[in-house]
Amino acid sequence: SFEPLASDFYGFESLLTEPEQEALGKLRAWLESDVKPIIGGYWERAEFPRQIVAPLAELGVLSFAWDETKPFENSSVFRGFVALELARVDASVATFVGVQNGLATGAISICGSQAQREEWIPKLASGEVIGAFGLTEPLSGSDSAQGLRTTAKREGDEWVLNGSKRWIGNATWSDITVIWAKDVEDGQVKGFIVPTSTPGYSATKIEGKISLRPVQNADITLTDVRIPHALKLEHANSFKDTAKVLKATRGEVAWESVGTAVGAYEAAVAYSKERIQFGKPIGSHQLVQDLLVKSLGNITASIAMVHRLSVLQDEGKLTDEHAALAKLYATTRMRETVAWARESMGGNGIVLDYDAARFFADAEALYSYEGTREMNTLIVGRAITGKGAFV
Ligand code: FAD
Repeated sequence: SFEPLASDFYGFESLLTEPEQEALGKLRAWLESDVKPIIGGYWERAEFPRQIVAPLAELGVLSFAWDETKPFENSSVFRGFVALELARVDASVATFVGVQNGLATGAISICGSQAQREEWIPKLASGEVIGAFGLTEPLSGSDSAQGLRTTAKREGDEWVLNGSKRWIGNATWSDITVIWAKDVEDGQVKGFIVPTSTPGYSATKIEGKISLRPVQNADITLTDVRIPHALKLEHANSFKDTAKVLKATRGEVAWESVGTAVGAYEAAVAYSKERIQFGKPIGSHQLVQDLLVKSLGNITASIAMVHRLSVLQDEGKLTDEHAALAKLYATTRMRETVAWARESMGGNGIVLDYDAARFFADAEALYSYEGTREMNTLIVGRAITGKGAFV
């Protein structure tokens, strides 16, 4: 039977179907038993626990979203709760899934041909193939809609790619990386499935991160990388197509940031019952309760927002500005919440053993990736006023 979370204060999970609740319950049990106890060590060593890919695939996490692989009918709301559940235990695990599933498989699902979808989606969903998504560059982050410098040149039946990418998640060990590059002929951004074994492709790990340490982010260089035309994503022919992928994944990041807040909040609640000061558990002091209650308010408001966002997605009504508002709002509330959790633990709030420190550090990357707060604000601002204020 499905045990609802105490942190789901208004009972949103009760809106899921029975098969959805069952799948979520299985995922929760596995994350608690197999991931939670080991993840702090991987975080400290900045290594990804690759052994979790196969069980994640078996639990359906990489399959739920795709017609080609889904084990049962399920909603965007359910898949949002899956993202929340992953992040509630560890935001790096959620980010790995976000890249493998949302960005890499999502790009192929949304922009690929029928043949490309049939070939790659089952392999990505089983974890047999690891994927990455290369949009950001050393000289182009927020302005990637117009600022990409990586080029693609058609030569007969091949495309030749040249340039560099930065921050690309999973890319030190991915088998394929979806690369976004400007076609030198028409100046439009196009997408390519690049096998990482192709000559001229290289990826170097970015060291020294203070956030999402297990996620293997890389700098990529592409030097005369030749790939067959069959690997050009058939329906990725301008940045508008890239944006379709980002619209879906921004919603997912909003859910992940709620999960990150929940993980930190739950650690803080547990600590508040154990830690004794002035002769009683700190949770019986009013000011500590204030931190916990404000956190639960943030979490509950954010769940309500992302829940509605996913309903809009299932109804085909999701707009870029809907996704942008949810991403910027949920990550801002997350950033407050993880800081309150950390604060409520005093010194132990900065030690990995007590979990809040990890969520606190990881929140910073979620806050900035897939569109910073400023960029998402400008997307919503443009929708409200009709005036773009990007440049
Ligand atoms: P910049 O664009 O240089 O921005 C710096 C600051 O200036 C920000 O605060 C920004 O909001 C602000 N700013 C910029 N322009 C304006 C403006 N017009 N008005 C107001 N403020 C502005 N990318 C991928 O392609 N694939 C990945 O897998 C991937 N994974 C990532 C994982 C991590 C851990 C991180 C940190 C990043 C990842 N990224 C990835 C890149 C990420 O999407 C970018 O970091 C993000 O888009 C911001 O770009 P930037 O870092 O270049 O910052």
